[in-house]
Order: sequence, then structure tokens, then C-alpha cells
Amino acid sequence: MQREGTTMDAPISLGFTDPDVPPAGVYDRCIRCGLCLPSCPTYLETMTETSSPRGRISLIKAVGEGRLDLLAEGFQAQMSECLDCRACEAACPSGVRYGELIEGARAQIARALAPRRSLLQRTVRGFLVRRLFAGRGWLALAAALVRFAQRTRLDRLAAVFGLGRAIALAPTLDAPPFRPFARRDPATPAQGLALLHLGCVMPLAFPRVHAATVRMLGRARLAVVAPPDQGCCGAIAVHAGDPTFARSLAKRNIVAFERSGADVYVVNAAGCGAALKEYGHLLAEDPAWRERAQRFAARVRDVTEVLDAVELDPRIGPLPLRATYQDPCHLAHAQRVVAAPRRLLARIPELELVEMPESALCCGSAGVYNLTQPAMAERLGQRKIANLASTDARVVVTANPGCALQLAAGLRRAGMAVQVKHVVELLDDAYAAYSAPPARAAAAASRE
Ligand code: SF4
Ligand code: SF4
Repeated sequence: MQREGTTMDAPISLGFTDPDVPPAGVYDRCIRCGLCLPSCPTYLETMTETSSPRGRISLIKAVGEGRLDLLAEGFQAQMSECLDCRACEAACPSGVRYGELIEGARAQIARALAPRRSLLQRTVRGFLVRRLFAGRGWLALAAALVRFAQRTRLDRLAAVFGLGRAIALAPTLDAPPFRPFARRDPATPAQGLALLHLGCVMPLAFPRVHAATVRMLGRARLAVVAPPDQGCCGAIAVHAGDPTFARSLAKRNIVAFERSGADVYVVNAAGCGAALKEYGHLLAEDPAWRERAQRFAARVRDVTEVLDAVELDPRIGPLPLRATYQDPCHLAHAQRVVAAPRRLLARIPELELVEMPESALCCGSAGVYNLTQPAMAERLGQRKIANLASTDARVVVTANPGCALQLAAGLRRAGMAVQVKHVVELLDDAYAAYSAPPARAAAAASRE
């Protein structure tokens, strides 16, 4: 019998094969209730069952049961179109761990396609997944080229070579990169040591967010260390279907954390935080690393979780601004951190926080989705900007570099003068705006 997704000339290529098989125990939990559909960005945009979580789970199950070819075009297309935003997972009453399914399916496809790729395709993919983001040198070189292009306006020329989208997303690289550093203690006696996860893009594109994070952790009475032997979290490799490489990156970070003697591993990029918290799962089949990975994952915290859980320095100043918060998918859905960032923003005197419609719907960034699925990324980006515009906010606050880049690019295109800030940046601004009561009194007296 011919199976779906095959032709008579092209017999079925593969079902799932070990390792990294999407677990039947996970897809069999789906009761097809459809409660996840209204939270799925691609379903909301297409209103098509196959572009929904339920549809994709059915496809994965069909491959798992040998009814559909792993390399069927439609299957590959749906596994790529999914943002891996995990909104469906957070909405599911049956506890379907959708992330495990999509990431397993992508690993299966990538492995099956590998021998069919040309040498050039293998080299480019290997460079993007295993070199560019995982090694700081290549990314630093790319950042230097972008900086040069921005200064000389050669970035306009880049569009001619098909790099327009990448250039449009690039932030203005006008500050020196953030460097690793040895332990820094706060002004008051430290109550613990935090390791700051540097990440790949953050030190180059958002050095101010890292600097603000260090200051905010100090205000939470934590000493901070950012050792150079940590590295990429592996999220891009997992999303690209290369969990083997992600495992090697995970081991490096586990060793760096153990060596540092830190009490907590602090992350200010939601995508990285979600990946780091899942090291226990990533290394579950490796008996030599399983327990170390679980211990590590249990110590990972988003910076908003850390700051929300402690008493902060009370000397915080006012920020008379109208702001709105964009939930990063990998913070809200993958880590289920929703209230902490909002509670932190509520601590800022005179900040007016207005909720954005669909604040937890993916903005279309999703790692490199913007580059691999530009049309859907653009639709979701425009939807987000329209929702943002409806709030009339002057600043949009988020907690992930991909969201920040996508929002900033959308705002530029729409000609909207709205600032994009990380939660810790806005908190840090509020502390900088503080003036001690005597100074305030003196200032008030001099105005009279
Ligand atoms: S909500 Fe859960 S059980 Fe219901 S269709 Fe979606 S994945 Fe399946
Ligand atoms: S991960 Fe996101 S895009 Fe993919 S099926 Fe779930 S909700 Fe839809």
C-alpha cells in the first residue's frame, strides 16, 4: 500500500529512528480537544488545521506510526512553520509536552536530510548552527561587519545581496561588547553568588542589558560572576534539529557553573533560560551527565524570578511613562514566568503599565524563524505592532533579545516612536532616577 507523502517511485524513506524520537507517550496524550488552537499564532493567521498544534501532533503521530513519510513535503513544511513558541503546551489541559515533539521531529528530519544535502549546503548549515552562534569569534566578526556597514551606510547595499531582512533586524551596535568578568561584590555584604549567563547575541547587541542586570543583582545583594568558560545555551542547535551539538554546549555550561561555585545561574534572555532549564531532559539519556544536568537545571532562574523573590533596595525613583509588556514565549509558555516581570514593573513609581491585547502571542521572532519563515514572521510582527499601537504606550518592555529585535524592527518600519526596553533596563533607569530626600527637598526649595 502506498503511504501518504510518497510516490510510487519514491518509497517511504524513514519513520522515526533512535535517538531523539518524539515520544509516543507524549503525542498519545493529545485528546484532540482543540483548546490549544486559539493560542497558536500560525493557526490564528491561517485558520488551517494542519497549521495548528493539534494538526501538527497528528502529523507527528502519523510518522511515528509509519503512516506518513518523515520526509513528506507537507510534514517538513509544518515542522518548519511551527514557531516552537510552546503557547499550545501552556494551554493544554492534558499536559502534552509539545516542545519535546517538535524538537524531536526536527532532529529526525535534519538527520534524515543530512546525507541528501550537497557539500555546500552541509557547510553553510554547519557554519550557522555549529559555528556562528556557538563560538564568540564568528559572531564578533559578524557584529564588526554589521557595525562597519551601519557606519558607512553600506547596509543599504546589503539588501541588494538578499541580506535586507537580516540587516533590517540588526540593532545599532554603538556600545562596546560586554566582557566576561571575575566576581563583583555589591556595596552591602553579598547574600549569595550569581553566575550571569552571557549568551551569544546579548554581549554584542545588548551590552547595556547585561550591565543593568549586574547592577540590579547588586541591588538584590548578590555578588555576580560572568566566567569566560561558559558559552552558548544550545537553543539554536535544538531548534535546528541538532540536539547532539546542543548536548556538547550544555556540558560546557554545566562545568562552568560547577567551577564558579555560584548559587544560582541567572539568565536575562528568555530563549536561553528555557533551553538551560531543560538540560535535565537534554541529557536524560547520558548516565554520566544526567544528574549533573538535573542539578544544574534546578539552579537556573530568569533574572525577573530572582529580583521578584527578594527585597530590593528601596531607593527607587519615579518613571512617569505609559508602558506595556510583551511576554516572550520562552518566558511565559516554556518557563511559565508571567507575573514576576509585571510585579517588578509595578514597583516603579509613576509607571503606568497597560496590558497589550495578545501580549503572549509570539511576535514572529522565534530564534532564526525570522530568516527561515520570513512571510509568517512578517505577518506576526505586524499583528504585534498593531496590538502595541492600540495601547498608546511610549515604551514596550520585554525580556528576550529576539523579541526586542523584532519589536524594534517593526516599530522602525511603522515609524512609531516607542522605546524597546528589557525589564531590568527599566528598573535600572528607575534607580538612576532616584534622588535622596534631602536632595529632592533642596531641589524643590531652589525651584520656589
Ligand atoms: S489542548 Fe492538548 S489535548 Fe487538546 S488538542 Fe491541543 S494538544 Fe491536544
Ligand atoms: S509551538 Fe506555537 S506555533 Fe507551534 S503549534 Fe504550538 S502554539 Fe502553534
